[in-house]
Amino acid sequence: MNLTLVAGARPNFMKIAPIIEAIEAKKKCGADINYRLVHTGQHYDEHLSGRFFDELHIPRPDINLGVGSGTQAEQTAAIMIGFENELKYYPSDLVMVVGDVTSTMACTIVAKKGGIKVAHVEAGIRSGDIGMPEEINRIVTDSLTDYFFTTSDYANANLKGLGVPESKIFFVGNVMIDTLLKQEPRFKQPTLWNDLDLSPKNYFVLTLHRPGNVDAPQALKQLVAGIVKHSKGLPVIFPVHPRTEKLLSTLDLNLDTLHCLKPLGYLEFNYLVKNALAVITDSGGVTEEATVMHVPCMTLRTSTERPETCAIGTNVLVGNDPEKIEHTFDLLHAGQWKTGGIPELWDGLAAERIVDHLMTIFEL
Ligand code: UDP
Repeated sequence: MNLTLVAGARPNFMKIAPIIEAIEAKKKCGADINYRLVHTGQHYDEHLSGRFFDELHIPRPDINLGVGSGTQAEQTAAIMIGFENELKYYPSDLVMVVGDVTSTMACTIVAKKGGIKVAHVEAGIRSGDIGMPEEINRIVTDSLTDYFFTTSDYANANLKGLGVPESKIFFVGNVMIDTLLKQEPRFKQPTLWNDLDLSPKNYFVLTLHRPGNVDAPQALKQLVAGIVKHSKGLPVIFPVHPRTEKLLSTLDLNLDTLHCLKPLGYLEFNYLVKNALAVITDSGGVTEEATVMHVPCMTLRTSTERPETCAIGTNVLVGNDPEKIEHTFDLLHAGQWKTGGIPELWDGLAAERIVDHLMTIFEL
């Protein structure tokens, strides 16, 4: 079979890495799978793209559509035009998309209009917040998907509720966690560990990139200042997403214990998360990784598309009102955070299960 794999933005690379590895393993055993890796270029900054290919040993993409930055519509349009050409020259039996970024949605539409089947990895998750661009991407992608690979029973239930037949839903676990478990022994202490004299469970990690948190200057300033205040003098390590950097650099945020840095590589970032007292974030992927590493996680949002990280894991939704987060910090400082368990099938074998299903579906 000819398979086209799509990746476009930072959280896609961790998801695509184990899938490629599982395909390569099957090819070695004689399976007839040819694949092309298409990078849409949605993220192009070295800090959000190139470095992950080296760190996670992902093969270089066969093509980079080079769409670059733009508004939601500009990026969607550029991806669709580039991907339509790609599929014209390299016809596929199946297009596999991962996650919920613009590339996920845009490539799904192009594939289906071209009569090609689509598999969606991380299908069925929903925050219920249509104000999030990702929620629109999820809804559109899942409305066109043929094979739904899911991470949780919540996702399975959402899909069933939408009328997706059970025969199309494949509960396989979480490919992001495949990468985490594989890379854990390689996590790398960043140089700032010694520079800032960090020690385990004695600092916070902060990430912020959702429009709802980072697009209004005064709200962003108050949120970050509130977090630093409640961190009680412990260092707050803040690898700043380029989207956030644009606004943050205009704010006069000189706080002694706040350490703003460029986004980190995967191995250094997760070294810091693993050893942190807690991670404070609005990222979906980080809540999953924190859950698996049993690190307390505060999510600066009022909803999540990954409720299992709260129901089973270490995650708590704390909203984004700086006045209201104090109580959650008190719990943490008092050592009363839940330890959390690990959601079903988040065991490092999700990608193998996906490729096994492909073998059956396509009779390989
Ligand atoms: N990540 C990273 N360096 C950083 C911040 C995050 O490697 O400085 C990783 C993190 O471990 C996770 C992924 O980026 O694997 C999450 O991506 P992001 O927060 O951009 O997307 P989301 O999960 O919110 O869709």
